[in-house]
Amino acid sequence: MELFARTEGLTYNDFLLLPGYIDFEAEAVGLSSRLTRRLSIKAPLVSTPMDTVTEADMAVAMALCGGIGIIHHNCTPDYQANEVLKVKKYKHGFIRDPVCMGPQDTVADVLAAKKKNGFTGYPVTERGKLGEKLLGIVTSRDIDFREKSPELTLDNVMTPVHTMITAKSGITLEQANSILEKSKKGKLPIVNEAGELVALIARTDLKKARSYPDASKDLNKQLLVGAAIGTRIEDKLRLKMLVDSGVDVIIIDSSQGNSVFQVDMIKYIKKNYPNVDVIGGNVVTRRQAKNLIDAGVDALRVGMGSGSICITQEVMACGCPQATAVYQVASYARQFDIPVIADGGIQSVGHIVKSLALGASTVMMGSLLAGTSEAPGEYFFSDGVRLKKYRGMGSLEAMEHKDGKGSAMSRYFHNESDKHRVAQGVSGSIVDKGSVLRFLPYLKSGIQHSCQDIGAKSVTDLQKMTYSGELRFMRRTHSAQIEGNVHGLFSYEKRLY
Ligand code: GDP
Ligand code: 5GP
Repeated sequence: MELFARTEGLTYNDFLLLPGYIDFEAEAVGLSSRLTRRLSIKAPLVSTPMDTVTEADMAVAMALCGGIGIIHHNCTPDYQANEVLKVKKYKHGFIRDPVCMGPQDTVADVLAAKKKNGFTGYPVTERGKLGEKLLGIVTSRDIDFREKSPELTLDNVMTPVHTMITAKSGITLEQANSILEKSKKGKLPIVNEAGELVALIARTDLKKARSYPDASKDLNKQLLVGAAIGTRIEDKLRLKMLVDSGVDVIIIDSSQGNSVFQVDMIKYIKKNYPNVDVIGGNVVTRRQAKNLIDAGVDALRVGMGSGSICITQEVMACGCPQATAVYQVASYARQFDIPVIADGGIQSVGHIVKSLALGASTVMMGSLLAGTSEAPGEYFFSDGVRLKKYRGMGSLEAMEHKDGKGSAMSRYFHNESDKHRVAQGVSGSIVDKGSVLRFLPYLKSGIQHSCQDIGAKSVTDLQKMTYSGELRFMRRTHSAQIEGNVHGLFSYEKRLY
């Protein structure tokens, strides 16, 4: 309270947490936390609804590791609803939308598809679509020596269905595993009673299949997923499609959430979809939070101008340093039992723990997750470095995205007819980080070790310690910050995990 009583705004690097007493193992630290009034997740990690961060692949990985992904809305409602559906229908180890071929497709088609997709196993169905009668399969062994006859149609080279081993839908991953082990085949097509293809299992996936006991799941054991919408009339249709696809939580995406548009949208959702939890925002002050809490939100997203791609504070002269924003909104919202998401500016495990200690229940990340293999977009090379695009949703590029239908613009209160657009974000690139399935376990373990140093046995304990005064915060000067970083070395390598 003392630290934030002053009028000057603070951010994560401006303070430290003092260590406590350790009488437990780091692995024992509980990571479960509340996302909204009614939803809890197993790790306090949320991926942001940005078009270079969260689509189905990211949301699946986030949920498998105990967090949750929020699908962006800079796309058509159909596309977004389908991404939600992919997450809800995800079954570990099963390829639910295998690429198929038709019997009249050719060896050349397979070779081209191999170049594009990276794999060579294609089920052959009547017209080359999923859900049709399975006729056979082509794999690398069927086409290995056929490069010289690219015009050959697949009905001549495929392994026909009557000689194949398939499995019936409803089979468990363990049963599939044992069939593949015995048959020594590389692919196991899953068919329904009518012999129509419904999924495919690849041996390579079973070999690397890990179990995810801490996955975030609903009562039907399907992965949890969220989605973002705007506050325009047409967002009501988008909302309906998302709810029909089984979305678990809706975020109303706005850079300044304290608006009549958002208040009306919150009331509309609460009235028409009482079972869907709504996250409002973004807010950075208690006054903004009050209006959204009065309107009925189930959680608040906090942050304005702290994101890595963001130029709001510079251009709009508006915003708030992130630590002050999180502390002020969280200490207010807890009186109403409303959890807070600290959104933007998270650059390290230390920042995550600091935001939780300031009262946030979860953190939302963009730049930390962009550049992973699960983030949308293709890798490209620049000066020999492997990169992926990462752009602010308020960048001109994102606002002008053709399928966006103005959804990125609505976050920043622009209309398609506006003569002048004012960018609030930049577009850039970010270095390849590998898979989030490796990165998230590092973040989780990092949070546990940090809580151990502090003497907090769980994330919820950490918050209790903040409000009881047991956890002590210390302001650090500019020279203390320099001391806290690597210094005095000629060169060094910073490997984190
Ligand atoms: P292949 O024998 O060349 O098909 O390749 P592998 O079986 O060794 O690897 C294929 C990898 O691509 C696996 O990890 C699959 O899960 C993945 N994959 C993703 N989508 C598809 C798909 O539509 N078809 C196939 N065959 N694999 C896919
Ligand atoms: P990061 O984790 O990269 O520091 O921040 C991500 C957050 O920045 C997002 O969750 C979102 O709240 C915010 N954001 C995304 N795009 C923009 C933008 O173009 N301008 C601003 N002001 N904020 C953005």
